[in-house]
Amino acid sequence: MMPVLKVTDLHVYFDTSAGTVRANNGVTLEVREGESLGIMGESGCGKTVLFLSLLHLQQPGRIVRGSVELDGRDITRLDESEMERLRGRVIALVPQNQATALNPAYTIRQQLTEALKVSRSGGSLGSLSSRRSNDYADSEEQFKRVFEDLGFEAGPVLDRLLRSYPHQLSGGMRQRVLIAMALLMRPRLLIADEPTTALDRAIKAQSLNTLQRLRGSLTMLVISHDVEAISATCDRVAIMYGGRVIESGSCTDVLSRPRHPYTRLLLAAQRRTRGEPLSAIAADTLNLIDFPRGCPFHPACLEAMPVCALETPPEHLTDDAMVACHRYNVEAD
Ligand code: SF4
Repeated sequence: MMPVLKVTDLHVYFDTSAGTVRANNGVTLEVREGESLGIMGESGCGKTVLFLSLLHLQQPGRIVRGSVELDGRDITRLDESEMERLRGRVIALVPQNQATALNPAYTIRQQLTEALKVSRSGGSLGSLSSRRSNDYADSEEQFKRVFEDLGFEAGPVLDRLLRSYPHQLSGGMRQRVLIAMALLMRPRLLIADEPTTALDRAIKAQSLNTLQRLRGSLTMLVISHDVEAISATCDRVAIMYGGRVIESGSCTDVLSRPRHPYTRLLLAAQRRTRGEPLSAIAADTLNLIDFPRGCPFHPACLEAMPVCALETPPEHLTDDAMVACHRYNVEAD
């Protein structure tokens, strides 16, 4: 079956006064229908640039090579007006910062109504004014439908929520509203960017529970540094280092039996920091302007062999797993 999203050899570069930063340096991955794929790695691994590139929001970075196919169509060549129709309606993003993503001057009902308008206008704000107000007569039904999908029963509590302004809601509730806005668009792909960042334990559990409810019914890409968030919400995981995927496979397999030395280091650091953002495990040893020859991880790898400094590691592949390493392959225990 054709994947919903297929990224092939994606290179995204940023030109800086110090030189060209290769933020994505050959990303290859795919997400199948109804599947939830986690993208995991520390700060600077390229996961943010990757999802921004899917939406053509990577500027000033430029896509220099590779393709991004959505339902078989390469969207890297689409112009801005075509991307405007696609953003939100076909690829929906639940942003990381729920505190600022909602408009503080409007109630939740007003903001959900706007999302519905954008959805029904084909994703273009320019055509909103031409729609009659009774085109949205079923909006309350739509709001109830998406909140029920998120485990929120219709009734006085939902009515109060719809009347609220963003500042009157908890972080977890604001995030549910953002997910509801995305669901109103009935997107082909939902991207959740760091869904548990800056949330306390109770709110984090609510957030994960919300995403878990969508699992299987929606195709999702979950971007996170947090192993708990990935294992709770994803079927498969892709580990990124140095702007590319260095290991992928089922969550059960990769998170319990990592093969790549970097994945093992990342998971060990997660256990030490209990899920806090990871800023400096090994990414700070890698210069994204002047990549080392061979395996980019070799200056920090405790298991490096002479070949690691000379040759780019091959990608050992099976149907459902990949590891890019000279020492380990997908069959190794
Ligand atoms: Fe370590 Fe070599 Fe594998 Fe790179 S290719 S992760 S340096 S063992």
